[in-house]
Amino acid sequence: MTADQRRFRDQRLTAWHFAAGEVLVRCPRCAECARVVVVPGADADLCEARRLVCGRCGYARGQRGRARHGPAPSRTVCDPYLREPLWLQGDCGGNVLWAYNEAHLDYLEAFVSARLREKVVVGEGEWRRRMTMVAKLPVWLKAAKNRDRVLRDIERLRATLQPCP
Ligand SMILES: [Zn+2]
Repeated sequence: MTADQRRFRDQRLTAWHFAAGEVLVRCPRCAECARVVVVPGADADLCEARRLVCGRCGYARGQRGRARHGPAPSRTVCDPYLREPLWLQGDCGGNVLWAYNEAHLDYLEAFVSARLREKVVVGEGEWRRRMTMVAKLPVWLKAAKNRDRVLRDIERLRATLQPCP
C-alpha cells in the first residue's frame, strides 16, 4: 500500500449521499439481498417514492412517504424508506457495522484504512457542512486500535454481496 492509498480525503459526504442511491436490504420474503430503488420516473428526492425489488424471489413493494434516517430503535439498522433491515450490517466487536450499499462500504473502508486523514479547518459558520458522515462516525469505528477488526468485518460484509442480483 502506497502513501497515497493511505490518504483519505473527507469528501464531505453524508450518509444521505449513499442512501440517495440504491440501498441493499434483506428481502422480507426470501431473506436474500434485495434492493430499495427510486421508482422509475420519480424524482430522486429523498421523500419521493421508493420500491423494494428482489431479484431472487420477485418480491416487490412500494411506498411513498417521508424517509426516516438512521438506526431503528432496535440494534437492527434499517433502510430509511421501507424500514427493512439493511443487508450490509453485522456485529463488529459489540457494535453494529453497517452500510447502505457497496459504495458506502467502500467509503468506510477508505476512511478506516487511511493512516493519514486530511483534517480541514473550518470556521464556525461552516458547522453544518462539517457534520459530514465522517464527522458523525462513532468513536469505535474511528479508533486506530479497532482498525484491523473493522476492516476485517468490512470485508466480511463485502463477501455477502456475491452474488446479489
Ligand atoms: Zn426475495
